[in-house]
Amino acid sequence: MARSKRADYDAVVVGAGPNGLAAAITLARAGYSVIVYEASDTVGGGCRSKELTLPGFTHDVCSAIHPYGVASPFFQTLPLEQYGVEWVHSPAPLAHPLPDGRVATLERSLDKLGRSLGRDAAAWRRLIAPRIAQWDDIVAGALGPIHPLRQLRRPSAALALARFGAYALQSARGMAERAFDDDPARALVAGIAAHAMLPLEQAPTAAAAVLMITMAHVVGWPLARGGSQRVVDALAAYLRDLGGEIVTGTPINSLGELPPARAILADVTPRQLLALAGGRLPERYAQRLKRYRYGPGVFKIDFALDGPVPWSNPDCLRAATVHVGGRLPEIAASERAVWNGAAPERPFVLLAQQSLFDGTRAPAGKHTVWAYCHVPHASDMDMTGRIEAQIERFAPGFRDRILAKHAMTARQMEAYNPNYVGGDINGGLADLFQLFTRPIITPNIGNPYATPTPGLYLCSSSTPPGGGVHGLCGYFAAQAALRTVFGMNATDLDALGSAPASQIVVEEPVQ
Ligand SMILES: Cc1cc2nc3c(=O)[nH]c(=O)nc-3n(C[C@H](O)[C@H](O)[C@H](O)COP(=O)(O)OP(=O)(O)OC[C@H]3O[C@@H](n4cnc5c(N)ncnc54)[C@H](O)[C@@H]3O)c2cc1C
Repeated sequence: MARSKRADYDAVVVGAGPNGLAAAITLARAGYSVIVYEASDTVGGGCRSKELTLPGFTHDVCSAIHPYGVASPFFQTLPLEQYGVEWVHSPAPLAHPLPDGRVATLERSLDKLGRSLGRDAAAWRRLIAPRIAQWDDIVAGALGPIHPLRQLRRPSAALALARFGAYALQSARGMAERAFDDDPARALVAGIAAHAMLPLEQAPTAAAAVLMITMAHVVGWPLARGGSQRVVDALAAYLRDLGGEIVTGTPINSLGELPPARAILADVTPRQLLALAGGRLPERYAQRLKRYRYGPGVFKIDFALDGPVPWSNPDCLRAATVHVGGRLPEIAASERAVWNGAAPERPFVLLAQQSLFDGTRAPAGKHTVWAYCHVPHASDMDMTGRIEAQIERFAPGFRDRILAKHAMTARQMEAYNPNYVGGDINGGLADLFQLFTRPIITPNIGNPYATPTPGLYLCSSSTPPGGGVHGLCGYFAAQAALRTVFGMNATDLDALGSAPASQIVVEEPVQ
């Protein structure tokens, strides 16, 4: 049996990613004893930071930018600030350099978009202002345990989601080319939609773009001062203060290794759950889990620099996130190539320059750059040269500033964290079908987290609402366990401190 202080627990969680920790906190807040087992030596899953390159340079190993963290109705109920989390906003959430020297800048304020989007600023406002007005309902729907029928229970959310859902049936490319005339707005949409890791001609990439754009305006795209690790360290410290236990350095190979418990919540993807459960899952359910599909992988690279990135257009220095990939057609071609199994010659690069806004990340005058691009599933292609070449196009002299670098192929990502199957960072493909059927199609629409094995739940990003550091998969899975296994009723669950979406704080843009 895996190491533990007690002989048995009310609940055991496998995996200390943001969702595993969120599940454990929810159970501990309800007064139940809980222990978390983590394979790695540190907590955090996809939310760790480390000195990957040189002493004094702190790099976010996986997640870096946290719109989902600040938007999460669950995180908003936690005393994260008291436990050391400080969100840092750059003056603009996102910059996107174009080959003609212009930079498309996504500003927090709709009123400031004119400078970079020109005549498309009015169309941007027409598209996004209604979504900002419906933000509470969109959060309740899109960041809830997504199922279209479930939303019918709340009429206002159903209406907002029906409007938002119209984008779920559209492609980002179609939407951008219809709505906008010029490259800056189209490129912004393309780069943001590419986070979905699907071809931009495919639904629901328009919805992915609209959701993330609305987040940029409403809550911003901040980073965590000191590194993303601070977020999970805060979750872990809060859990311990609630009486929860965490055991690191303990990979669980079979559910049989766990101490006896009434509920087991697994922060793993379906493929790992099958291995962990062995024969415990009914055959029909196991077959359906086997059909769960994974998406493309990522190639990740971190740089230590002896100065900031020498962007040709200094407007790029106003944003913590920079999307490097040029115009919409070029980004679309890159994502299509990946989808078709080829590593793109000119990859679309997602880049963050945290040290410009957080002096703790690097020694004075030095800087960190975090970057990744999409690659075919399970690729072991080294994309270092291609990523550097893309950055050089928009920042000549970038290579000369590199002091050290650290890269991981898609296969190495999976070795680093078994939840990244084939390098897929979203816990499974988020196409239109699997967006609504994570992890399987189930008639139990309020509870996709439960398995047919009593007391066994999935709580990772392979469940709704999917990828991102928000803890909501863990929170909803724990709520399901509290209802079913521990017999808590809706009133007791509400009293646990889940904030209604209307309590979301809308921050003023950073000047
Ligand atoms: C390069 C990259 C960039 C990203 N950028 C962002 C970003 O900027 N913003 C954002 O919001 N999200 C981002 N993400 C996605 C985000 O990190 C994930 O969606 C999130 O971490 C999922 O949380 P989780 O708890 O479901 O799983 P994970 O974070 O993957 O955690 C799972 C944990 O379970 C452990 N585990 C698995 N199997 C076992 C076992 N058998 N026994 C014990 N422990 C086990 C793992 O070691 C891991 O610690 C990024 C991811 C990557 C890789």
